[in-house]
Amino acid sequence: MALLEVKNLHVSVEDEDVEILKGVNLTLDTGEVHAIMGPNGSGKSTLASVLAGREEYEVTEGEILYDGEDLLELEPEERAEKGVFLAFQYPVELPGVSMTNFLREAVNAVREARGEEELGAGDFLKLVRERAKLVDLSADLTKRAVNEGFSGGEKKRNEIFQLAMLEPRLAILDETDSGLDIDALRQVSEGVNKLRSDDRGFLVITHYQRLLDYIVPDHVHVMVDGRIVRSGDKELAKELEDKGYEWIREEATAAA
Ligand code: ADP
Ligand code: MG
Ligand code: MG
Repeated sequence: MALLEVKNLHVSVEDEDVEILKGVNLTLDTGEVHAIMGPNGSGKSTLASVLAGREEYEVTEGEILYDGEDLLELEPEERAEKGVFLAFQYPVELPGVSMTNFLREAVNAVREARGEEELGAGDFLKLVRERAKLVDLSADLTKRAVNEGFSGGEKKRNEIFQLAMLEPRLAILDETDSGLDIDALRQVSEGVNKLRSDDRGFLVITHYQRLLDYIVPDHVHVMVDGRIVRSGDKELAKELEDKGYEWIREEATAAA
């Protein structure tokens, strides 16, 4: 059984009669990294938001199966507890709430859902240190308030740290590369690569090919105007880097 199966997914914005996703199909297995590329406004973030359960979107047709279960029936918190992780779903800044306290609740909620025991304070801090090190984040940062005063690169590394802590089965990274200089990009990618595993799948959304030099995907999909118009392997990403998106848009229009 696939980890994630998106079938003929149509999505509109609630209150507005505009269809954003127009029949998306995608199958992702554990152990795989899928990249979704595409021009701005093509619907990539909308797909990520719908997977995480953001309220403002309405699924008008199609289905999403996660581990064979109807994902759309689950509340956002239930999805998170069952191992769906979306990097940007976590708060941008939470003044006064330390990363550690914030994550302790999230980690224990996930553990409870998996039928595991709650982590005590000591074990939790041990895990924090271990995982912070894994993604090259200073353990001092984890004591600060959530994202408060973090640089752009630190915020992104913090997202990967959250991923490392929550151990999701499906990790969705939306534009994790945006605004990163080359060193930060490399650090973030190394963190992700360490977290690749046989029982985890990644959906990596990016507008630019360069992230995929570091996080090498098994499959690449191109989204244009609410549809996946082409899928391939990592060579497809290189082709897009060379030729841009226009040719693929023209092809898609001609085929429609
Ligand atoms: P991408 O991530 O590929 O750049 P998005 O999913 O962010 O694309 O957006 C796809 C289209 O849907 C855009 O035209 C965007 O303006 C529109 N859209 C996305 N979310 C909303 C929303 N909450 N309300 C209105 N329009 C939206
Ligand atoms: Mg956008
Ligand atoms: Mg986007």
